[in-house]
Amino acid sequence: MNSKQIHEMGVAELAAAIRHQQTSSVEAAQTLLARAKQHSNLGAYLAFNEELTLKQAEAADARIAAGERGPLLGVPLAHKDIFVTQGFPSTAGSKMLEGYQSPFDATVVSQLAAAGAVTLGKLNCDEFAMGGSNENSAYGVVRNPWDTTRVPGGSSGGSAVAVAARLAPATTGTDTGGSIRQPASFCGITGIKPTYGRCSRYGMIAFASSLDQAGPMAHSAADCATLLSVMAGPDIDRDSTSLDHPAEDYTRLLGQPREGATAAQPLKGLRIGLPQEFFGAGCAPDVIAAMRAALAEYEKLGATLVDISLPRTELAIPVYYIIAPAEASSNLSRFDGVKFGHRAAQYDDLIDMYKKSRSEGFGPEVQRRIMIGTYVLSHGYYDAYYLKAQQIRRLIAQDFQNAFEQCDVIAGPAAPTVAWKIGEKSDDPVANYLADIYTLPGSLAGLPGMSVPAGFGEGGLPVGLQLIGNYFKEAELLQAAHAFQQATDWHKRAPAL
Ligand code: GLN
Repeated sequence: MNSKQIHEMGVAELAAAIRHQQTSSVEAAQTLLARAKQHSNLGAYLAFNEELTLKQAEAADARIAAGERGPLLGVPLAHKDIFVTQGFPSTAGSKMLEGYQSPFDATVVSQLAAAGAVTLGKLNCDEFAMGGSNENSAYGVVRNPWDTTRVPGGSSGGSAVAVAARLAPATTGTDTGGSIRQPASFCGITGIKPTYGRCSRYGMIAFASSLDQAGPMAHSAADCATLLSVMAGPDIDRDSTSLDHPAEDYTRLLGQPREGATAAQPLKGLRIGLPQEFFGAGCAPDVIAAMRAALAEYEKLGATLVDISLPRTELAIPVYYIIAPAEASSNLSRFDGVKFGHRAAQYDDLIDMYKKSRSEGFGPEVQRRIMIGTYVLSHGYYDAYYLKAQQIRRLIAQDFQNAFEQCDVIAGPAAPTVAWKIGEKSDDPVANYLADIYTLPGSLAGLPGMSVPAGFGEGGLPVGLQLIGNYFKEAELLQAAHAFQQATDWHKRAPAL
């Protein structure tokens, strides 16, 4: 019998407790809903539909009673409010979509539901996933449960906080330029963004289509592997950039020693590349110290450390902040008060209606990005900005391929500092953009990356170790993260609430 309380359990433990009838899906859902409401001051959840949640939980309990088994059957989860979800509002954290109800489920949502997962609710995020602190949500800030005066990171801030504060055993997030990895790092949880195109973008409200990718956030790499196995897979009829690559079992290498390695040194032969650009003066000393300790642990597990270079790391910021706004300006043109979104109550004519609806519906950061994006795509500036950025993006991807000649996995911090104070960077968009420096290069290259809890820094705040793999190397990344989590207990720490 597991002596943990329901909210303390991760996905595997909770699924087992439900399977062994130590609890039920209904009881688990009720417990987590009550806890989520009790901690509403954190701002993690935006919406519940208790009736629907309990109906789903009853259906899962019936499937179990009928003898069905599955790693997610009956497990309550919650979704970032960027995934459209039937029966719940889907707002993308924007006033533009206030009260919007989708007539269909995002593919990621429907795949998890088919596996028997139960939806607890929708989670706060930066508006249209634009941000790295969750301060850009139209529905209020999300608070870091390790220190409620700090940001949780973003844009999947609600998703990270729900897991860290034990308001859900796992959640979905999206990562365009770091939005799974950075909040996972700030909140002391595990999150993985797979190779671009691995999870369907169908029903994921678009920000920057060539970068957006879904992924799971959970206590451990093992739980992330279980979720990702269900979330990923081809959806080529509904998402034109979905990869036509069969679904995989991402748990297959967990706990397995690498080929030729031993149980004592399961990662023997693993070459971990350390980009010099990720360990420079821009990275805070407390973060570097946590990195060094984590890397020493990896050496004990048999890995070897190799110095590498990703020479265009700094360029990732201007390149991303041209390409992502360019794509956003195009994607967000659909919110015009006619096809989608808020419509102003009073206007003179059609153009005035567009202007007022968009000015009222979009927050300042979204408006800023639409303006930047429209500018860099405009005649006369396209070649100088957008085209140039695309060319450098290609070189950044090439830098990674050069690095992977020397190593199997790349490691470094997920973010240059621990979570900052709410409001600290609010007036300075560029300061926010600079904090994305270690996650943007992998995003631009479309590579899989994850953040693994690796200790605590200044103020007792969590620090995440980022692991980046080559295309389709999710299973190897998860294996490396799992081996670390077998040897450490950072991922088991939870804030006192
Ligand atoms: N912080 C980055 C931005 O503001 C990344 C966001 C994301 O990955 N969705 O765009």
